[in-house]
Amino acid sequence: MNQEKQLKILFVSAEVSPFAKTGGLADVAGSLPQALTELGHDVRIVMPKYKFISHQMETRFDFPITISGRKETAVIRESYVDVNGDNNKKVPVYFIDNYQYFDRDNMYCYFDEVERFAFFCRAVIEMLPGLDFKPDIIHCNDWQTGPIPVLLKEQYSIIPFYEDIATLYTVHNLFYQGNYPKDCLELLGLKEDYFDPDKLEFYGDISFMKAGLVYADIINTVSRTYAREIQTPLYGERMDGILRKRSRDLYGIVNGIHYCDFDPMTDSCILRNYDHQSVENKKENKYALQKTMHLPVGDVPVIGLISRLVDQKGLDLIAEIFEDLMTKDVQFVLLGSGDRYYERFFKDMDKHYPDKIGVYIGFNAALAQQIYAGCDMFLMPSRFEPCGLGQLISLRYGTIPIVRATGGLADTVSNYDPFSKRGNGFVFKEYVAEKLLDAIERALYVYRDRKDLWTDLVKRALESDFSWANSAKEYVELYHTAMGKKSEEEDVQTA
Ligand code: ADP
Repeated sequence: MNQEKQLKILFVSAEVSPFAKTGGLADVAGSLPQALTELGHDVRIVMPKYKFISHQMETRFDFPITISGRKETAVIRESYVDVNGDNNKKVPVYFIDNYQYFDRDNMYCYFDEVERFAFFCRAVIEMLPGLDFKPDIIHCNDWQTGPIPVLLKEQYSIIPFYEDIATLYTVHNLFYQGNYPKDCLELLGLKEDYFDPDKLEFYGDISFMKAGLVYADIINTVSRTYAREIQTPLYGERMDGILRKRSRDLYGIVNGIHYCDFDPMTDSCILRNYDHQSVENKKENKYALQKTMHLPVGDVPVIGLISRLVDQKGLDLIAEIFEDLMTKDVQFVLLGSGDRYYERFFKDMDKHYPDKIGVYIGFNAALAQQIYAGCDMFLMPSRFEPCGLGQLISLRYGTIPIVRATGGLADTVSNYDPFSKRGNGFVFKEYVAEKLLDAIERALYVYRDRKDLWTDLVKRALESDFSWANSAKEYVELYHTAMGKKSEEEDVQTA
């Protein structure tokens, strides 16, 4: 197959930065299509039109979708993202609008989630002829888009327009699976016989995630280590059997970050811009952050945490060591929201140690940049982590990550050794609170007692490259692999 060919790629995601974001998926969906466009491909993005999205957009057309015997209207609207800030190069973004399903205050967690995303998947497929855009590949992401490969293969491929479209399904987080009662098959227009362990049945339910894993031509996840881990019962979230079965079609490609959006040299959210040649300016961002978070201003090491406050992120380990941590000469800054338990825990700690911890519960993109720039260290002790973007963004800002070696954290952060001067962060392996504390202490030692080494570590972090440049090329190869697989399958069917 001609690897140079310009591909037509449809990128499907429930969230896309800058329009709607709850986590890393939005960052990837906003930035990978830009990198692919830079490589010369024709990429379009599609997502739901949530109520709060206020960007200017054009209404293209509408059409009816039949769902459970009812007709619902899908309105297609169009906006775009500029490619790497260049307003002459754009990635079109299509929005699927429907008043009943998406005109709500939040993105997720509604009683009729299954119906909302069943509608979305069908609308994505059916909008294509109207756009006169026939993709070579549909790139689906996470559970909300899982039914697309099965619908395409089992219902639409008899229509010539759809017959040779290949699919790639990317797992950004296996924990969120979209499992629903058996009768929801009807919402997808699939018959009872899809309630089968080799198809969509999953422990007595049907699973959107499983639909993607079973039916996509190729599947991948967002780091090599996570691709290996999820084939084991410990990390497999009960999908490990299916993943082992498809291990020949399962790949791992580490995420990149968008180097224009995350650039300490041009970031307008931070007080003072800097790069590896002006690291001393980073300190002014630290003082500004200390002021913002009502902490005493000074040269104390500041540890940051920006995260969804959920078990996955290793917060129980942090809670366990917190009192110990507070006995040290450090400050701690947290930005996040999620489980009430952890929100309350950090608010309580804020009351106990007002001079040592600054807490902001909520989502705040500008404050996030200020924390990445203003902290010295960034904490990610995750129980599991498909890729993780926090550690990549913090490295980009010269803030040294302290991580557990799992998933993408293991692939992107290596332990610093003051003797060989190798490594770019502080790493622990076992999911045990003392090991986390030990990693923090190692970082504090270098910061406090080996200033020269610390400065060197920060400079190297600022020079490292975690842009999309390499990973986008790997995705292009994967698209070709999926297309090759699809055409082999067609050859078998026509033989
Ligand atoms: P996940 O996708 O599991 O949430 P990642 O590390 O892959 O974790 O991506 C998280 C992304 O969301 C990062 O860009 C991080 O900076 C951002 N983020 C997380 N929580 C917040 C918050 N409360 N405010 C602003 N940005 C946040």
